[in-house]
Amino acid sequence: MKINEAGWLELSDPGEGTISRQKAIGIGEITVPEVVVLHYTASGHFQHTVDRLATSPDLSVHFVVGRAGEIVQLVPCDRRAYHAGLSEWKGKERVNAFSIGIEIINWGWLKAQQTNQDLLLTHVDTEVHKTGAVFSKHKNETTARWWQSYTGTQISAVRKLVIALCKAYNLTVDEVVGHNDIAPKRKVDPGPAWPMEEFKHEVAIALGTEQQSIEEVIPTGVLPADGPMPRVDALFVKAEADISVVLRTLHKELKQQ
Ligand SMILES: [Zn+2]
Repeated sequence: MKINEAGWLELSDPGEGTISRQKAIGIGEITVPEVVVLHYTASGHFQHTVDRLATSPDLSVHFVVGRAGEIVQLVPCDRRAYHAGLSEWKGKERVNAFSIGIEIINWGWLKAQQTNQDLLLTHVDTEVHKTGAVFSKHKNETTARWWQSYTGTQISAVRKLVIALCKAYNLTVDEVVGHNDIAPKRKVDPGPAWPMEEFKHEVAIALGTEQQSIEEVIPTGVLPADGPMPRVDALFVKAEADISVVLRTLHKELKQQ
């Protein structure tokens, strides 16, 4: 996937996914994207959600990703959409002015159903089976609750999209955030069911920037005398990064022969 000069998503090859366009009426001024914001829709129906986001003058988003991984674009990436509301990122307010929003179809938090232990209810009392949910504590909350799971195809589609956006606008994984990161007092999306750590790790590998972020964790390769130990998974990433450097060097040498 790639972003064209007019700010619209295109497939690099036809088997890569399903993308379409449905232009929103809520399109603002020209912007320079500095951050990608992930949301969940708190809804279940793809087309109803897209229609609502496309027809409201003060509510819109750049992309909606369905449960089957289908992607629709509503606003060009270099134009303002209205998805973040009151928000702040790195000391800058009104994140809509410099962000790209992705809404992922997911009901979000779920509540227990009194008569059937296998079922959970959404905020509008739609039933969701427990096998499609996780019981987890949100990082901004104190107790665990149920959240609808994201689908594998959906996560994979969002990953391809985010990689294309990072490449097009020269962003790193540090510039991929959740709505709950830029409006932590008001918002809980995409929530604990979204595998943010793993997702960002995979995006970093695709961008070839995994080494950069690891150097912040282990500045000199020497374990700190006091203070926290580096995370074990960070050490593994460091090892992978070293291997990729070796492979690149080898590849270069082979080319020169
Ligand atoms: Zn949101």
